[in-house]
Amino acid sequence: MASLDTPSLSDKVIRNQLLSDVYQWSLSNGLVMYQPNFKLESASTAPITLYPTPIPKVSFENAIAVQRAYNELYSKISQNSNGQWLSGEVAKFAEFDRDFTGKLWNLYLKSLKEGYLQKLRLGVFRSDYLVDKKQNEIKQVEFNTISVSFGGLSTKVGELHNYLNKSGKYAPVKGSAFYSNEIPISKSAFALADGLAIAVRHYDSLQENPIVAFVVQEGERNVFDQRLIEYNLLQAHGIQTVRFTLEQVNTHTRVDSQSKRLYWQTTGQEIAVVLFRSAYSPSDFKTEQSWENRLTLETSYAIKAPDLLTQLAGTKKIQQLLTDEQTLTKFVPEKMQRERILSTFVKMYPLDNSSLGKEGKRLALEDPSRFVLKPQREGGGNNIYKEDIPAALKKLDEKEWSAYILMELIEPEPNQNNVIIRGEKLYREPILSELGIFGCVLFDETKIHYNECAGWLLRSKFNSSNEGGVAAGFGCVDSLILH
Ligand code: ADP
Ligand code: MG
Repeated sequence: MASLDTPSLSDKVIRNQLLSDVYQWSLSNGLVMYQPNFKLESASTAPITLYPTPIPKVSFENAIAVQRAYNELYSKISQNSNGQWLSGEVAKFAEFDRDFTGKLWNLYLKSLKEGYLQKLRLGVFRSDYLVDKKQNEIKQVEFNTISVSFGGLSTKVGELHNYLNKSGKYAPVKGSAFYSNEIPISKSAFALADGLAIAVRHYDSLQENPIVAFVVQEGERNVFDQRLIEYNLLQAHGIQTVRFTLEQVNTHTRVDSQSKRLYWQTTGQEIAVVLFRSAYSPSDFKTEQSWENRLTLETSYAIKAPDLLTQLAGTKKIQQLLTDEQTLTKFVPEKMQRERILSTFVKMYPLDNSSLGKEGKRLALEDPSRFVLKPQREGGGNNIYKEDIPAALKKLDEKEWSAYILMELIEPEPNQNNVIIRGEKLYREPILSELGIFGCVLFDETKIHYNECAGWLLRSKFNSSNEGGVAAGFGCVDSLILH
């Protein structure tokens, strides 16, 4: 079947006949990123693969099929009726990670004192999987509840690969399409905008056209990925956006002291939804003011994506706790749905004094080659792999081990035939691909108002590197063909 093959073009052909098409399509269509130390006026082609990567159809379909169940699960964890479980667990592990999880938790406690006038919350999620090579089963790497990225560029890379295919570039001798079928294009750049628009529509604004705020990192290089969603929000829904950093909240916005409604300072426009593309890692909080500003947003009347509890529901520790079937049953009573979710889990262990924790400690020290050790952090570059685990643990006081979880390694099949393009360089190393499925869910304490799958992302990295963050410099954006 032709669609299983990858075009086998030499570096020479790629350089002479394809690269200019790749770069120019990318620059024309916004498949771009800023370079380090960039100037605002010039960007470069994002790190990408030249071809789509084959993914088993059954794995892809299962990942899509389980997304709404995951959206619902994380909404339920976060809803106040079940909030006691989440609060109880977070309160416990916040002790072990005082510098970040602990601070987010304290902020949440403060926000509770002020009270939440806004009951609606928006989840903009991404569930990440690797396809285990043994049975082509999708296994979850992590569930992200804050600052999910690459929804914009994922759509673009699918479009680029389709362009290269249809324009005959993948078969330069014949000039015909190499893949007979359409290469699937993720709708994420539109579907994430749709999710934001739904939240705006549910918000009871005092003004006719309330807007959406993106809270962003200063000097963000992956800004075009975010912009694509903003442009779609304006184009498809007529909704304007503003952008500011966490440090700028107190200077760029204003909160009405009675109603807690949030307004954009310059124009007085009402902000209906706050989307966090920042505030997920300690380095996002530059000063004490940043923490205060996060609280200001939390207690404002704007719908948060996410609120603090939902952010905390996305910690690795909660992911580990959910692998216990009894715990999962609390939130997913329906058996089929629960089994679908359970089938995506690999074994995860706490490193505390529970019986499972003791087993985890033993495995971490005696059999580390099958595991990855994860702290309560997001954004890449924090994990400890295999043989490095025992030494890393021994450096810590055993009490501190509770801040980590131990996770079985998933073993995907490397793909040998793709080519990674980073700047001027071509790489032909075997790659591993991580499939992320986006989801949007709008909920309040008792009800889910909207729950949709919002497209996908394929990120590929060299088999030789343990981590796959694109912005962090380890990976690239890919698209997929199904087989
Ligand atoms: P982060 O919050 O930093 O993104 P992740 O849990 O996604 O943390 O881990 C980062 C990367 O480490 C993943 O993208 C994946 O490449 C690798 N990784 C994480 N967990 C596993 C696992 N269980 N098996 C194999 N690789 C993993
Ligand atoms: Mg990740």
